Amino acid sequence: MNRIYMDNAATTPLSSEVLAEMMPVLTTDFGNPNSLHSFGRDAKQYIDIARSRVARGLGCDDEEVYFTSGATESNNWAISGIARAYRHKGNHIITTKIEHPSVLETCRKMERDGYRVTYLDVDETGLVRIDQLLHYIGADTILVSIMAANNEVGTIQNLQAIANIAKEKGVIFHTDATQAVGAINLNVHEMGIDAMSISGHKLNGPKGVGALYVSNRIIITPFMNGGEQEYGLRAGTSNVAGIVGLGKAVEIATRDILANSKKVRSLRDYFIAEVEKKIEMTYLNGHSIQRLPNNINLSFGMVDGESLMCMLDTYGIAVSTGSACSSGSTEASHVLVAMGIPADLVQGAVRFSISKSTTKEEIDFVVEKLVESVAKLRKISAMQKSQVGKGE
Ligand code: PMP
Repeated sequence: MNRIYMDNAATTPLSSEVLAEMMPVLTTDFGNPNSLHSFGRDAKQYIDIARSRVARGLGCDDEEVYFTSGATESNNWAISGIARAYRHKGNHIITTKIEHPSVLETCRKMERDGYRVTYLDVDETGLVRIDQLLHYIGADTILVSIMAANNEVGTIQNLQAIANIAKEKGVIFHTDATQAVGAINLNVHEMGIDAMSISGHKLNGPKGVGALYVSNRIIITPFMNGGEQEYGLRAGTSNVAGIVGLGKAVEIATRDILANSKKVRSLRDYFIAEVEKKIEMTYLNGHSIQRLPNNINLSFGMVDGESLMCMLDTYGIAVSTGSACSSGSTEASHVLVAMGIPADLVQGAVRFSISKSTTKEEIDFVVEKLVESVAKLRKISAMQKSQVGKGE
């Protein structure tokens, strides 16, 4: 069976160009970048090149890029490290209700440590209301952390407006750009973003590696102690191959951003139009325009999203309900709930995340199987309802 992968928001395959860059480091050039001999110097050079590539992709200086184990770590570090460094100025953090758990859980931890956290509402499209942000920023606010684009519904925030407000109010602005890099243009210096998290495996790079950009204008406390790596702030022998892969992945993603996003966006719009034409009671979750080019989050009335996901899996089609991190649990998506989506449609939501490799033929096949599956599940649901009726 030919399998079709439409879960690129969960992870992406490693690109062959990226693998080619990583191979020497995984084989012959295996030195420890902290060693003083030639093997060590070679490894250090690989890291320097990767750091420059990431910096160029994000629009910052090399010294502002810190390699981490992924966006979970970058988010944990950004929030706890910045809040601690500025504790003398205040104890208030502002975030949103639709952040990734790595932000939300860190904020909860900060609350236990004595910080005050405001979790902003979003509107029905997933957008933060700028007037609300302004309303909550006070004299004790030290940090605003708002994601660039949501992993479940793909809504892209008004980042420039948020960055401008943070700057005006003298508050630090961190953004989780894990889903946004390579999809939308982000230049941290131009936009006035102070800190930003990214991850390799969402960009056709390797898993287990990411980066945190921290502006030279701000300070952050160390995340790992016990070594001079990453300017003494994130100790531990560097994941050289992963870092090399991340550098190349960022370079490619930012290089090809225009062509890729145009292609993916038109496939996405075709997908949505076909489904809306062929399946009644289909609802698109998230913003209709301000959304990631590859994200399609749909709710189908009278259909359970998890059952639909499982049925599509039997045809070799990989999609997701909620985010990968929360799937497996039966908890309702905190993102859709925050957007005020009715409970039955939250239950019926399925995320299709396509990529530059997705073809029109694949979409046609998926739509065909979707039509069949939704019809089957609705029939079962109607039968179950009538059985319940008879039993009463
Ligand atoms: N933030 C967002 C928005 C994400 O989508 C993810 C991955 N699901 C993460 C953070 C965590 O990234 P990583 O897998 O690199 O830890």
